[in-house]
Amino acid sequence: MAKVCPLFSSSSGNSIYVGSGGSGILIDVGSTAKQMEMTLNNNEIDISTINAIFITHEHTDHIKGLRIFASRYGIRVYASEGTMRALIESGELTNKFKCDVISKKGIEIGGAYVVPFHNSHDAEETVGYVIRTSDDKKIAIATDTGYISDTIHNSLIGCDVVVLESNHDINMLKNGMYPYYLKKRILSDVGHLSNEACANELPKLVQSGTTRFILAHLSSRNNIPELAYQTSISMLEDFGMKKDIDFQLCVAPKKNEKRELVLV
Ligand SMILES: [Zn+2]
Ligand SMILES: [Zn+2]
Repeated sequence: MAKVCPLFSSSSGNSIYVGSGGSGILIDVGSTAKQMEMTLNNNEIDISTINAIFITHEHTDHIKGLRIFASRYGIRVYASEGTMRALIESGELTNKFKCDVISKKGIEIGGAYVVPFHNSHDAEETVGYVIRTSDDKKIAIATDTGYISDTIHNSLIGCDVVVLESNHDINMLKNGMYPYYLKKRILSDVGHLSNEACANELPKLVQSGTTRFILAHLSSRNNIPELAYQTSISMLEDFGMKKDIDFQLCVAPKKNEKRELVLV
């Protein structure tokens, strides 16, 4: 059985654990090493069973604890070529770290196979990941993208579990306090995915065989978990798809304190 446990998920910190058969990987280390240790411990995930860390991009909300966490536990770090360059140039990673660029073909690690795909975001080379676990479950993680490109869509279809960004409600963002340049950035093709854009993708994924969704990377200022949830549920119901029969859907907590996880 594969386990997907969102540890942190918001505009201020992101990290997801994916495991099966007693070992696993982390996608991003977006909270401090101390917070990561506490939250992994609260979720009964033994750090010694983490085989690798995969980074999506170099923005702080994805790497805040990376340097200390990866060096403290000697865990190998993988990232796209552009992200790895950015992490080395900023001093987040140095030659004392175990780190590698992940190729387009992906890599096998501890019985799982991890393949990156490009997102559309304003960092050096942002990627999402599809993880095929040792028990042959497919899990996709796609956050930090301005829109769902064909590349992203083709990576998500057929996955058992999809973690998808549902960052903001467009009206809350437009009417909110953010400065104009920031609103423009978030709404652009290299910004973040709205609740509406996220919801639009879900029925196609259910038709392709996806049964479990985790809505992720919600903005604290421009979204409300219930609103993200309702936008996606309404869209799926409009397509005649029934919750708990055709699909399961949850919103990743900002910090996982209630051992919320998805099993597949
Ligand atoms: Zn970002
Ligand atoms: Zn982010």
